[in-house]
Amino acid sequence: MFLFHEIIFGPIHSRRLGLSLGVNLLPVDAKICSFNCIYCECGFNTTMQESPIPTREQVRETLEAKLQQMVAEGQIPDVITFAGNGEPTLHAKFEEIIDDTIALRNTYCPTAKVSVLSNSTRVHKPHIFRALNKVDNNILKFDSAIDRTMKLMDQPVGKHINVAWFIEQLKKFDGQLIIQTMFLRGKVNDEKLDNTTDEEVEAWISALEQIRPKQVMMYSLDREAPTQTLQKISVEELNVIAEKVWAKGFDVSVAG
Ligand code: SF4
Repeated sequence: MFLFHEIIFGPIHSRRLGLSLGVNLLPVDAKICSFNCIYCECGFNTTMQESPIPTREQVRETLEAKLQQMVAEGQIPDVITFAGNGEPTLHAKFEEIIDDTIALRNTYCPTAKVSVLSNSTRVHKPHIFRALNKVDNNILKFDSAIDRTMKLMDQPVGKHINVAWFIEQLKKFDGQLIIQTMFLRGKVNDEKLDNTTDEEVEAWISALEQIRPKQVMMYSLDREAPTQTLQKISVEELNVIAEKVWAKGFDVSVAG
């Protein structure tokens, strides 16, 4: 289990994103999410929580102090990324925090992008939809276009969640979104899981054609997943799937 122990973490050097400063809107000692993905690097959802969810003011003050320090040291972040110990849009003040972050970015590092990594489960809430439309990189999870697989992989907590619901919600962004998909195979509770089969890829690409994201990001396991029976998909294999996405006219990237 890997938890972020701070509100602001990093900066982390990433080949893809450059210098990335992370923001964690969840408690520093627990993982809270509206999914419970079998591959989550933070582990499974936790019920034990001693530290509180950070307030809007704490996030703004901590981020401002970090940006002031970085700028003074001549370190300008390329991106400010909302990720952390769970789903960032669960924070009650998510939209206000995004507004504060954009204002701080404009003051201290106007060239930096603001990115949010979200699991898409709360995009139907008007304030979340508005907030995600304000950021530069609205990165939304969509792991499979087949319900059984999505439920096995992501283990959604809410009953309203199914693939058709996701597609309808994601279409509303009118292309202002980046789809992120985890590929893997293995076993979950003795059930076989593989979202790289022809049937899976065909259904997924057909969903992408309806959603029309501006970019598609594909990846596989990196750090250790909480379930030992999962298998990483090689970059070569991901590239074969990416070719099919690219052939449909999408901007697609594979994280190696
Ligand atoms: S959506 Fe993200 S944080 Fe939530 S369980 Fe899945 S991988 Fe973990």
